[in-house]
Amino acid sequence: MKKAIFPGSFDPITSGHHDIITRGVKLFDELIIAIGVNSNKKYMFSLEERKKFIEDSFKHEPKIKVLTYKGLTVDFCQQNNVEFILRGLRNPADFEFEKAIAHTNRDLAPIETVFLLTAASTSYISSSIVREVIINNGDYTKLVPQSVRINKK
Ligand code: ADP
Repeated sequence: MKKAIFPGSFDPITSGHHDIITRGVKLFDELIIAIGVNSNKKYMFSLEERKKFIEDSFKHEPKIKVLTYKGLTVDFCQQNNVEFILRGLRNPADFEFEKAIAHTNRDLAPIETVFLLTAASTSYISSSIVREVIINNGDYTKLVPQSVRINKK
């Protein structure tokens, strides 16, 4: 059984993440959306909110599970018998950043990172841009899946 994780902060999930998940799930038997918890980081949305946004978006997809984790992504993979890490690439900066992480992860554990290029239509979207639009009362709804709009307080 091919199991992958798609790790991230998802603060909040965006249409870009949604695209990668929808395309990535076709490649694996199970895809765990793994929300990393970093106690030094300040988030706009609570862990429960971020989890609910994702769960509601994919409630009709039985191959997708949403979990949270602390610590190294490779440790989480090994604890859950996961062999693949799925990541999205938007631009050369993402590539350079992701390359270093993927090489480090390969040194730490026999886990392959699989990259999908973003859809052109969502390649400019990031969670930080979405947060900026929300803080300034702009229309963020085109940048996120419907579940964020429905569940956001
Ligand atoms: P992190 O805290 O690791 O930066 P994110 O939640 O921002 O977590 O991103 C998780 C993953 O989603 C990363 O692989 C990132 O490259 C990818 N990603 C982020 N935004 C987009 C987008 N607009 N299109 C496709 N992939 C994206």
